[in-house]
Amino acid sequence: MKWDPRIEEMPVEEQKRQQYRLLKTLVCRLYAFSPFYHNRMKEAKVHPDDIGSLADVQKLPCMFKRDLRDNYPDRLFTASQEELVRYHVSSGTTGKPTVVGYTAPDLEQWTTSLARGLTSCGLGRGDIMQVSYGYGLFTGGLGLHYGAERIGATVLPSSVGNTERQIELMQDLHSTAIACTPSYLLHMGEVAEKMGVSIKNDTDLKVGVLGAEPWSERMRDHMQQWLGIKAYNIYGTSELSGPMFTDCSEQQGVHIWSDMALIEVLDPDTGEVLPNGEKGELTITMLQKEALPMIRYRIGDITSMDESVCVCGRTHPRIDRIQGRVDDMLIIRGINVFPSQIEHTLLSIPEVGGQNFMIIVDRKKNLDTLLLQVELQSGAFSDKINDLMAIRRKVEYRLKNALNVAAEVELVEPGSLPRFEGKSKRVIDKRVL
Ligand code: ADP
Ligand code: ZN
Repeated sequence: MKWDPRIEEMPVEEQKRQQYRLLKTLVCRLYAFSPFYHNRMKEAKVHPDDIGSLADVQKLPCMFKRDLRDNYPDRLFTASQEELVRYHVSSGTTGKPTVVGYTAPDLEQWTTSLARGLTSCGLGRGDIMQVSYGYGLFTGGLGLHYGAERIGATVLPSSVGNTERQIELMQDLHSTAIACTPSYLLHMGEVAEKMGVSIKNDTDLKVGVLGAEPWSERMRDHMQQWLGIKAYNIYGTSELSGPMFTDCSEQQGVHIWSDMALIEVLDPDTGEVLPNGEKGELTITMLQKEALPMIRYRIGDITSMDESVCVCGRTHPRIDRIQGRVDDMLIIRGINVFPSQIEHTLLSIPEVGGQNFMIIVDRKKNLDTLLLQVELQSGAFSDKINDLMAIRRKVEYRLKNALNVAAEVELVEPGSLPRFEGKSKRVIDKRVL
């Protein structure tokens, strides 16, 4: 089944003509109306007139996450506040988060993208989708929510947490699909077993739409067998709108709708465009976004692309599983965490300072854990347990506020953590996917 066969099966040549038309329109609009893009293009000595073919996208300068940070909160927006109907907020690299604004057509496009994707995962009317992504400032919950409603499925907006209740509801309301992070679904499976419930035998669950964090084919096989479901990958970032693109029935890569996004894979060091099949940094131009357009946005995710027509009949390009990051971003319980945010927070606490700390990430019972070893400043070192407990609580509290993820803090004596000559290596990630 296809949500919109006319678009999803559009011949590649026709897609490229459409992409060129959209790109040209976008570049002209931004050159005329956005001071940011106008200046960027001037600096790069490109004018909208220089864009005469789709390949000319390569003449345009790239954007990075730091452009969003430097223009916090809304200086990259190209719609006025009155035109916006929603904001979402995601983690930024240091103290300030990234704010994303949406016009009504932006939300419509996001919903359409997911309507196509969820249909390609075999879902539709009659399905009951439990949305166990976080609702609120994050994009996952509300994104999937509207996508699932659009295809006529029944949404159970259960959000994250309260796992035992989620399993009861899954049984009582007969959920056929769930959207959440892959690690949360594994956790749910284990909690269910403790309750004496087998997701495979005692529930109607048949589809998982899983993403927001890296996972592997090995995890997919395991989940499909153990839980008796088809496990599909969903990919996106808040800068694109949120989770937007999914696998199809073939499970051979995530289809990226070419009428919405123009993708390139670049060599992260040279910025050169890489051919199909070669791994590099995914770079996306959002062709139709109104409020927060993106031209050649270098997302930081490493993958390769494949433009061959898929067995499912969809002609839109696919990307492979995300293989890693070009930066040091960590994803903990589906939430982006940058070591620079941690450093920034610690720097504001005089008892510890941000110079010496170690980040240890692990996965216990399928839930990510974050442990921070933090050196006390010599002045703050005390042999009174109460003083140390108070500092520890303060550090944990500040970090929770800054990261949106709980971290366990272990205070250590001044001078006890490793020192680095050259590039510091502060992260130990013990997770096996
Ligand atoms: P979201 O709310 O969709 O997680 P964020 O902007 O907070 O959006 O995070 C986006 C990042 O999450 C991506 O750049 C990527 O690193 C990671 N991510 C999202 N989906 C996947 C996926 N299916 N596989 C691997 N990584 C993913
Ligand atoms: Zn396909």
